[in-house]
Amino acid sequence: MDFDLPESAAAVREGVLAIAGKYDQEYWSRCDAEKRWPEEVWRELVQGGWHALAVPEEHGGGGQGLLELAVALEALAEGGAGGAASFMYLLTPAFGGLTIARHGTEEQKREFLPKIVSGEIETCFAITEPDAGSNAINISTQARRDGDHFLVSGQKIWISGVERADYLVLVTRTIPAAEARPRTSGFTVLLVDVKAAVADGTLTFQPIPKLGTNTVASSTVFLDEVRVPADRVLGEVDQGFLVLWDILNPERILAAAGGVGSGGLVLKLACEYATDRAPFGKPIGTNQGIAFPLAKAKAQLELARLMTYKAAWLWDRGRPCGSEANIAKLTAADAAWQAADRAFQTYGGMAYSMEYPIARMFRDARIAKNIPVAEELVLAHIAQHELGLPKSY
Ligand SMILES: Cc1cc2nc3c(=O)[nH]c(=O)nc-3n(C[C@H](O)[C@H](O)[C@H](O)COP(=O)(O)OP(=O)(O)OC[C@H]3O[C@@H](n4cnc5c(N)ncnc54)[C@H](O)[C@@H]3O)c2cc1C
Repeated sequence: MDFDLPESAAAVREGVLAIAGKYDQEYWSRCDAEKRWPEEVWRELVQGGWHALAVPEEHGGGGQGLLELAVALEALAEGGAGGAASFMYLLTPAFGGLTIARHGTEEQKREFLPKIVSGEIETCFAITEPDAGSNAINISTQARRDGDHFLVSGQKIWISGVERADYLVLVTRTIPAAEARPRTSGFTVLLVDVKAAVADGTLTFQPIPKLGTNTVASSTVFLDEVRVPADRVLGEVDQGFLVLWDILNPERILAAAGGVGSGGLVLKLACEYATDRAPFGKPIGTNQGIAFPLAKAKAQLELARLMTYKAAWLWDRGRPCGSEANIAKLTAADAAWQAADRAFQTYGGMAYSMEYPIARMFRDARIAKNIPVAEELVLAHIAQHELGLPKSY
């Protein structure tokens, strides 16, 4: 393997762990119960510039890359945030920061990146629609040119953080799926001013009641002739697919980093419990039936971490990383789920008590197998692109 962790990564890990260390599990459980964004932690990340590590220095950021963002996210998750960390690093640092830094025009970079760095603006991302989740090619949200604007209409679903966001990175079709040749053409990615569109009534949203990941809402978004200036296109009109892969691959890589960190956290709690709890006079962790599955989860998390860093390292160099990003996401989500499941077992009946954080972590770990890309779709990608098997869909 021809990559090496930069020295800066250790400093990033240390810096973010120091912030995470100030907040205990009671804090995270409270945020979850109150369904509120961890504002205090977010502000500290912004003040330290830990959310803008990948924004170029000329725009006020850390001048580093996705690898350092992944290390930061992993540290935040492992240091206590668990699943909440992924949303904190995906919404603004990745969907806004990374995308504009790589695909924005010079004007867009000058306008938006310093505001992302200062914490003045936040972003979110919308691709999923009621009839197009895994099959994103089929989205039907339409952007129609109208002079020096686009008019956008359609419906998005599961859009996380739209209630906080100032700008929405919105995936639209400027050529309908049925007419696009190839079918990957005709996508246009727009930066939509959420507050303005809410104010003029063209964008409305409705939070979806959901099982977990409560520190951020996920909403159905209705777009009714939203006016977007033509200079708010990210990348080229009709060529948004290129931009899209530079959103989806980092999303998978960061989701993997979140899984590795969350898995590490839940494993740590399980090991503490297994060391303290002694219903038969000796710690339950002395039983290999308890210890070995935890050890196996640790091994799987370590492997997932390696693939996550490798994928991020490739992305930072502009090299193809689709399979690595998918494999990282697949293995990290699975390892994190195994860790949460075994922690649940280790805690016995207490796993079910909301007094302990395990129930919350167990619940949040599960969804990582389905999002941002479901494991079946990852396996289909590996089968086709790595094994040369016929395409299955
Ligand atoms: C908490 C949460 C937050 C989210 N946040 C966002 C967000 O901020 N922005 C956004 O745009 N989206 C977001 N999403 C949406 C998420 O990315 C999608 O739910 C995900 O991509 C899966 O799409 P789907 O739900 O339409 O599942 P479907 O595509 O309907 O798939 C359902 C199941 O069928 C399987 N399946 C489908 N096709 C095949 C096939 N060809 N072969 C084998 N199996 C197949 C899938 O693997 C899956 O298990 C979020 C979702 C959740 C739950």
